[in-house]
Amino acid sequence: MIKDKIDIKSLDLSELKKLVESIGEKPFRAKQIYEWMHQKLVTDFDEMTNLSKNTREKLHQICVLTALKQIDVKISKIDGTRKYLFALNDGNVIESVLMKYKHGNSVCISSQVGCRMGCRFCASTLDGLERNLTPAEMLDQIYRIQKETGERVSNVVVMGSGEPLDNFQNLLKFIELITNEDGLQISQRNITVSTCGIVPNIYQLADKKLQITLALSLHAPNDKVRKTLMPIANAYPLSDVMKACDYYFEQTGRRMTFEYSLVSGVNDNEQEAKALSGLIGNRNCHINLIPVNPIKERDFVQSDRENIVNFKKLLEKNGINVTIRREMGRDIDGACGQLRKRYLDQKGDEQRAGM
Ligand code: SAH
Repeated sequence: MIKDKIDIKSLDLSELKKLVESIGEKPFRAKQIYEWMHQKLVTDFDEMTNLSKNTREKLHQICVLTALKQIDVKISKIDGTRKYLFALNDGNVIESVLMKYKHGNSVCISSQVGCRMGCRFCASTLDGLERNLTPAEMLDQIYRIQKETGERVSNVVVMGSGEPLDNFQNLLKFIELITNEDGLQISQRNITVSTCGIVPNIYQLADKKLQITLALSLHAPNDKVRKTLMPIANAYPLSDVMKACDYYFEQTGRRMTFEYSLVSGVNDNEQEAKALSGLIGNRNCHINLIPVNPIKERDFVQSDRENIVNFKKLLEKNGINVTIRREMGRDIDGACGQLRKRYLDQKGDEQRAGM
């Protein structure tokens, strides 16, 4: 990030109007610039051909137009999932995933470079948090993918690297810009934000009364097991997390999704399925079972298929709405942060070898 320049792609239309006026331009220019950035998805002021050369020059001088550089893309032979590695202006690297479904194209974006939440099975958090992503950097993951594929992105899941509620203000701004009618205008209902459960921020998000889906990473039916998987469980007991989720549902009318990654011998036996049914009770919600995607730094093992199906059946018996998540792009380092981690490890090896 260039600190002394204005991050123009993170501005909303009213902020952009003020900026445009401050450089002596007519207010209507703001909408033109906004559309160039957020609808036509250009990456350079010089592409904004209905602005004078002089205006473009002024913008160059005081602003930075965030544009991610694609450094790699891996395409799954199994299901066409595409996993992108992007470089940010400061050289940091993030990853994003495009998943093609019958109902449309869905992009999974990162919200931070790295993560400080420390979940035991997750590759994104192994090296800690580097920094938050700006709203523009979150947007541009979607823009670059839409531009590259030439296909409309209809759904966004904030489930890549990072904890979105740990980058709260930028997340809100991102949602405002991606849903804006002068931009890609993705419906709030087609946006899902996944959190490990930062309780005060769930309340704050609920009070915004957005129509987005909130997904809560549960991964255990009780605090004892949850604490072994997720350090955040030491800060917020499950009883408080569930209360916050209920509040989210009350305020927004949006059914919660609970994510439960199944780890063999850790959280996948019958008692745990029963305890999970008890915890969920008759809440109007949806459970997403995720077979854990093993990472080489940890020795977690995926539950076998039979166990997973049994776990699902036990929940269904109790009237719970549950699906097993399809593993998209398993052949291309599909799990959060794995591609980036491999890239950084390789680069580190090369540097140590003096290449
Ligand atoms: N910080 C957010 C987003 C993380 S990624 C959160 O915690 O929800 C989205 C989901 O994938 C989370 O439920 C996360 O716990 C889960 N996840 C991360 N790594 C995984 C892995 N290797 N196998 C299975 N699920 C994983």
